[in-house]
Amino acid sequence: MSDFFEEADRTLVEGRAPDLEVPREMCVLEGPGEPCVLVIFGASGDLAGRKLLPALWNLYLQGGLPQAFAILGCARTPMTDETFRAYTRELLESAGMLKGSRWEGFSRLLHYRVLDYGDPAAFKTLGSDLDALDREARTAGNRIFYLAVPPGIYAWTAELLGSSGLSGEDSNGVGWSRIVVEKPFGHDLESAEQLDGILHRYFREHQIFRIDHYLAKETVQNILMFRFANAIFEPLWNRRYIDYVAVTAAETLGVEHRADYYEEAGVLRDMFQNHMMQLLTLTAMEPPSIFEAERVRDEKAKVYRALRPFPVDRLDEYLVLGQYGPGVLDGREVPGYREETGVSPDSLTPTFAMMRVFLDNWRWQGVPFYLTSGKRLQAKRTEIAIAFKQVPHSMFRQVLGEHISANRLVLGIHPEERITLTFQTKNPGAKVCLRTVTMDFNYHQNYTGPVLEAYEKVLIDCILGDQMLFWRQDGVELCWSFLTPILHRCETCGNRAERLLRYPAGSWGPDQAHQLGPVLASLGDGH
Ligand code: NDP
Repeated sequence: MSDFFEEADRTLVEGRAPDLEVPREMCVLEGPGEPCVLVIFGASGDLAGRKLLPALWNLYLQGGLPQAFAILGCARTPMTDETFRAYTRELLESAGMLKGSRWEGFSRLLHYRVLDYGDPAAFKTLGSDLDALDREARTAGNRIFYLAVPPGIYAWTAELLGSSGLSGEDSNGVGWSRIVVEKPFGHDLESAEQLDGILHRYFREHQIFRIDHYLAKETVQNILMFRFANAIFEPLWNRRYIDYVAVTAAETLGVEHRADYYEEAGVLRDMFQNHMMQLLTLTAMEPPSIFEAERVRDEKAKVYRALRPFPVDRLDEYLVLGQYGPGVLDGREVPGYREETGVSPDSLTPTFAMMRVFLDNWRWQGVPFYLTSGKRLQAKRTEIAIAFKQVPHSMFRQVLGEHISANRLVLGIHPEERITLTFQTKNPGAKVCLRTVTMDFNYHQNYTGPVLEAYEKVLIDCILGDQMLFWRQDGVELCWSFLTPILHRCETCGNRAERLLRYPAGSWGPDQAHQLGPVLASLGDGH
């Protein structure tokens, strides 16, 4: 403990983090994995262009891909291998990522097939193409099928893969097949179960990788390390010492070019069913006996099971929904949600939500968790704030009054990847008064090794077959069981329009949210 305070003291005095010697060999890439072909359905689309292809390029540069590897882009857009390579090159160039002389090597990994999803025979041909690619690239019959297509055709694509014999696995472990599914995993509980039924008709659970790229962010992975690799926080991590927890994911972006999807989804399906629930779980879960995918996911499932059913007949006491109107963000006028391209002028889709939830278990009984997410808010920020209780007795009452600000621990996820602990010290000088100071740890300070972007980590884990950062079906269904009654109530209640509160773009959401709880606890909102 004394070292801790010495380092803390240095941080405060000198304004820098302790000199942490990172043992390099413990933190490099885990290895390139087995040979395989990555098939990207929807290779002409936004996700493939903005995330997957750049991530693969970066992995290639860092030596993170298998020695024998090929990428097969598939979509309806007519392209040849050559035009797909030129398309990828242009993407990387315009993103300022094309550096060095290694493009030629990477481009040889890229292949393309035009695919007609309406024609089952096309998937038979795909199978023959993959066999040929296996022989050429020595990829041993191992395949990853990445569904970067609109969610409406996940089930159909899985069905075609299965019925064409592409989902089968060799019993001796050579020639494996994995399917990667992007969120959303269904629209509600029923559709999630239906999708799962089709996936499981052809693939077994260990073959299915349900992505939540939030989980692959370094700072999100760090939550479990922070909690369970230190002895000093865990004893305080419960209802006796914690007043509330606020999980916030604030975006400045509006709906951008994804209006079709967002109009159907809204903020609850887009953010709460996946990312917010994962952040809640990592904060609240018990330590597994070992850091292994199934054990970690078992503990997560217990948190979802502990979610207190939402009192849907008293929504206003627990939930605030909002939709952004026109406003000013970063000095620029921006339109309201209903004025965005592709959005209905009388849309009732929420773009903001704050929800107060409770976990009915021994550790968390009575502690509110405030989950908040919204578009077009004042700043882009994702964080988890742990607000501790006030000291039980103030011996400074005569001079300072009853109120002493409570300690606060903030796990910054984005853009500030840092951990800050706020506490009270004496203000220097003759007069007795306190000041609030923070001890600050910047996640990347004193580290110079490789840093993986979320999609790079996701792709590596798919190649390695590591399920740790992916959703398991029981988790998906438990979350939908919690959210579906809320969605149903919100979408069918008579006063739906009145319940949807307008907030100006560039603000911190509707005023009513600030009455329900802290929107961004690190800024010092009370509740
Ligand atoms: P797009 O709308 O860009 O679609 C991807 C590709 O799918 C298109 O280029 C198109 O290629 C093909 N496609 C479109 N409609 C159909 C159809 N009816 N049948 C067959 N193919 C079709 O989607 P995104 O790339 O934005 O997203 C892909 C998936 O990833 C979605 O499920 C999305 O929810 C998810 N996701 C996306 C994120 C993002 O940042 N974009 C973030 C997180 C998840 P072609 O016409 O050439 O066949």
